[in-house]
Amino acid sequence: MSETEIPHYETRSAICEYGRSLLEDDLTTGTGGNLSARLDENHIAISPSGIPYADIDPSDVPIVDTDGNVVEGDVDPSTEVPMHLAVYRERPDVGGVVHTHSPYATTFASLGESIPASHYLLAFTGTEVPASEYATHATAELGEAAVDALGDSYNATLLRNHGVLTADDSLEDAYTVALMVEYCARIHYQARAIGDPEVLPDDEIGRLSEKLDSYGQ
Ligand code: 13P
Ligand code: ZN
Repeated sequence: MSETEIPHYETRSAICEYGRSLLEDDLTTGTGGNLSARLDENHIAISPSGIPYADIDPSDVPIVDTDGNVVEGDVDPSTEVPMHLAVYRERPDVGGVVHTHSPYATTFASLGESIPASHYLLAFTGTEVPASEYATHATAELGEAAVDALGDSYNATLLRNHGVLTADDSLEDAYTVALMVEYCARIHYQARAIGDPEVLPDDEIGRLSEKLDSYGQ
C-alpha cells in the first residue's frame, strides 16, 4: 500500500518513529511501553501490542474507537488501550499519551514516591510527578488509577510498581514530557544519593511553566 492509501499515515508513522525513540532514549526496554494520539472525537491511533518497535510499520498501527474496537489495522492494539482511552475520556485537552518504563522514574514508582521539583524542568509536568495507586497492567483499574493521579492538570504520573504515563496536547509534547520526567527523576535520585535536594516552591513552578510554554523559536 502506498503512503497516500494508508489512512492517518502521518500520525501512525509518528507512532512508529517515537516508538523507536523510546529505545534510543532509554525510556523503555524490549517491547515495553506504548504510545497513542487522538485522531478525532471518537478515534485514537495506538502502538500495537508486543511487536518490536523496529518492526512496526505505519499500516500496523491500529486505529481504535472510544469503546476499544479496532476499526483499522490487522494486528492487536496495545494491551493498555483501556488506560489510554481513560485519559482521552477524562482529559479533553489531551492529544497524545506516552507510557514508558524509564528506569529512574520507575525507581520512584516502585517506591510509591512522587517526584518533587528539585529541578526546574519538572515544571513541564506540574508541581510534582504524583504516584498513582497500584493496579494490574492492562486493566481498566490501571486507567482509573492513572486518571485519578493526573487530575485536571498534571501532565504525568508514576504508575506504581510499573512505569510512567505522560499526556499532553500532542504526541510530540507528551514524548517531550516523558523525556523530562526521566531526566528530573535521574537528577533527583542522584541528588538524594549525596545530599538533601531543595525543592522549588509551587509558585515558582507556576512561573516556570508559563516561561516554558513560550520557550523555543
Ligand atoms: P503492549 O506491548 O501491549 O503495549 O504492553 C507493553 C506495556 O508496557 C504494558 O504495560
Ligand atoms: Zn507498561
